[in-house]
Amino acid sequence: MTSDQLRIEKAERLKRLPPYLFKEIDRQKEEVRAKGIDIIDLGVGDPDLPTPPHIIQALKRAASDPANHRYPSYSGMGEFNAVVARWYKQRFNVDLDASTEVVTLIGSKEGIAHIPLAFINPGDIALVARPGYPVYHVGIQFAGGTPYFMDLLKENSFLPDLEAISPELAQKAKMMFINYPNNPTAAVATREFFESVVVFASEHNVIVCHDAAYSEMAFDGYRPASFLEVGGAKALGIEFHSLSKTYNMTGWRIGFAVGCADVISALGQVKSNIDSGAFQAVQIAGIAALEGDQACVEEMRQIYAERRDILVDGLRSIGLSVEKPRATFYVWVEVPGGYTSAGFASRLLTEAGIVTTPGNGFGTSGEGYIRMALTVDRERIREAVERLSRLGPFGC
Ligand SMILES: *Cc1c(COP(=O)(O)O)cnc(C)c1O
Repeated sequence: MTSDQLRIEKAERLKRLPPYLFKEIDRQKEEVRAKGIDIIDLGVGDPDLPTPPHIIQALKRAASDPANHRYPSYSGMGEFNAVVARWYKQRFNVDLDASTEVVTLIGSKEGIAHIPLAFINPGDIALVARPGYPVYHVGIQFAGGTPYFMDLLKENSFLPDLEAISPELAQKAKMMFINYPNNPTAAVATREFFESVVVFASEHNVIVCHDAAYSEMAFDGYRPASFLEVGGAKALGIEFHSLSKTYNMTGWRIGFAVGCADVISALGQVKSNIDSGAFQAVQIAGIAALEGDQACVEEMRQIYAERRDILVDGLRSIGLSVEKPRATFYVWVEVPGGYTSAGFASRLLTEAGIVTTPGNGFGTSGEGYIRMALTVDRERIREAVERLSRLGPFGC
């Protein structure tokens, strides 16, 4: 049988994936680029800044050591996990047992995608915030589960309304995925919200997965809390964390999950059957990041805060409605009256060469917004504002 006789049929889990909503904007981007128009890309949530040099140096040294060329432990090097536990104590005053309550991940996306395999049986339900990072619901669907979406609305400060979840549904739900500071809305959580999540989860026996990828990317002196700071949280939940955004390390693939030992151990069991852990030299570089001078983190905050101010002031000056984010490198912009998310993003792209992300790409309740990422330098942001002001004013 030659390959042209094979009928290649994808599994249902791939066929069932929602359509890729950024296809149209990608197509338009290519069209605009082909015309030779200079594009300002505020679409991607990937830092444009380089990894700090002391972290790169640590990788270089570790990469030359043959001890690091062999299979790592799937659950992480003892030393990396110990450093994570020390960092949590110092940063959040949360106590963690490095050997049972920490697992190293090949980027937090890896753990987020894998954890449903540990807990979701076919037909099980998991609660997922929407709009949100798509990996939560895709991971649940890959495990055969059904995501139930909790809409994040402006009138609730983009926090899920737990009281709106029917008792039947709450009783059926096995897991819940939340993320603060939030991508894409840039919303932050209050301590009261985290406390209400713990009450809800213990009442209904729900495992909580909190994605804290942006906990260090916060401005004006604001320092986001860990979900695990709340009493009782560690008995029912875990927190995902990543070095990607804090240290400009998205390409390195290093993150971790911490919290409830039974949940961490089940995630480790999935991992031990799928991957063989993160490259040890990268873990050693991660140690240098977490234990080293944190001045680079403060520098990162300053840079994004400055970009944020230029963009937010500019957007407001042309009549667009936008909150000044206290955290994350996203600005969540309400589209002016008469536009859809896709329609407005398309106009910005074709008439101003500015790439943004239509909010509905993060789920239906993202409709009516676009997301702008602060991942270009301040001169380019100024340029974007100038181009926008030629399109505006938008008065809404
Ligand atoms: C960027 C991001 C992450 C981090 O992913 P890594 O796999 O650690 O690079 C996790 N969650 C959200 C919501 C993100 O935006």
